[in-house]
Amino acid sequence: MMQFIDLAAQYKHLKTKIDKRIQDVLNHGHYIMGPEVQELEEKLAEYVGVKHAITCANGTDALTLTMMVLDIKLGDAVFCPTFTFFATAEVVAYEGATPVFVDSDEATFNICPADLEKRIQATISEGKLTPKAIIAVDLFGLPANYPEIQKIADKYNLKLVEDAAQGFGGSINGKCAGSFGDIATTSFFPAKPLGCYGDGGAIFTNNDEYAELLKSYRVHGKGSDKYDNVRIGMNSRLDTIQAAILLEKLAEFPTELINRNKAADNYKKTLAGKYKTPQVPKGYISSWAQYTVVSADRDADIVNYKAQGVPTMVYYCKCMHQQTAFEMLDYQEGDFPVAEKLARSVFSLPMHSYMD
Ligand SMILES: *Cc1c(COP(=O)(O)O)cnc(C)c1O
Repeated sequence: MMQFIDLAAQYKHLKTKIDKRIQDVLNHGHYIMGPEVQELEEKLAEYVGVKHAITCANGTDALTLTMMVLDIKLGDAVFCPTFTFFATAEVVAYEGATPVFVDSDEATFNICPADLEKRIQATISEGKLTPKAIIAVDLFGLPANYPEIQKIADKYNLKLVEDAAQGFGGSINGKCAGSFGDIATTSFFPAKPLGCYGDGGAIFTNNDEYAELLKSYRVHGKGSDKYDNVRIGMNSRLDTIQAAILLEKLAEFPTELINRNKAADNYKKTLAGKYKTPQVPKGYISSWAQYTVVSADRDADIVNYKAQGVPTMVYYCKCMHQQTAFEMLDYQEGDFPVAEKLARSVFSLPMHSYMD
């Protein structure tokens, strides 16, 4: 049977290098914050084109640490797409703030700038919450419409966060995912475009003050050292072994990105007409975290593919406003017509860098 994401094929390709990197860590024994962590942070910052890359334990923590740095708290509104992975909205509620959901753009599946502005204006006129930030998501690997979103953030004096958990490797006119907004985050969950062999994440910023705060928050709010605690933080570091693995995967990543884009081109040629295939606006490059199509009869298509040994997945069959955990926000069916339609009709096909 075909693999949805073939991590075994990737490991086979990189085995000698990865095994050596892991063995190096076992030999030096610096399992926490070993030299590979700093080496990786330097290489990530260079790849993305930002001043600071700060690694952490996973993509959700990367967002949580970002919320802490931006001082998101009770009474604040943070705008994010309703059609995303749960963590994007979860981290907002975790700080006691209120996620305000935004509908999707039908062509790109990403947050719709026009609807974003409408929801900001509605929140301001309602006067109950303080608008603080926007979290845009690079859904399925395609960067969100940052040129438009940044204008809106500036107009309403909101911080902009890029959730690039799926977007690492994408770009807009040569500017890399991870470099948009005030702070960007990513995830190294194994199935993401750049994944490790466990949990991992990173935060990107050009802001020196944010970078210092992030380094403190990720180690128990440390001051001059770990036993001088100047603020309430958390324990969220990337393991040295994961950093070692990521160094080898990052070196191979540009080649892998080309392969994913070839696979996406082939899908497009083969499937155009049968489905609405994903649209990549001019100047944009997707990292193809998922190859997601819109189907007129999703259930039948999935059964049909399964019979042929082709695995499929549905990302996502429920929007955030439809989640039980967000019932208290009191949204109704029909509040986000585009996102609701996508949740009913999309499915994703196998996508990885080693497809033949
Ligand atoms: C995967 C993902 C996250 C969370 O990353 P983890 O490493 O699993 O915690 C956050 N946002 C989006 C959009 C994701 O796809």
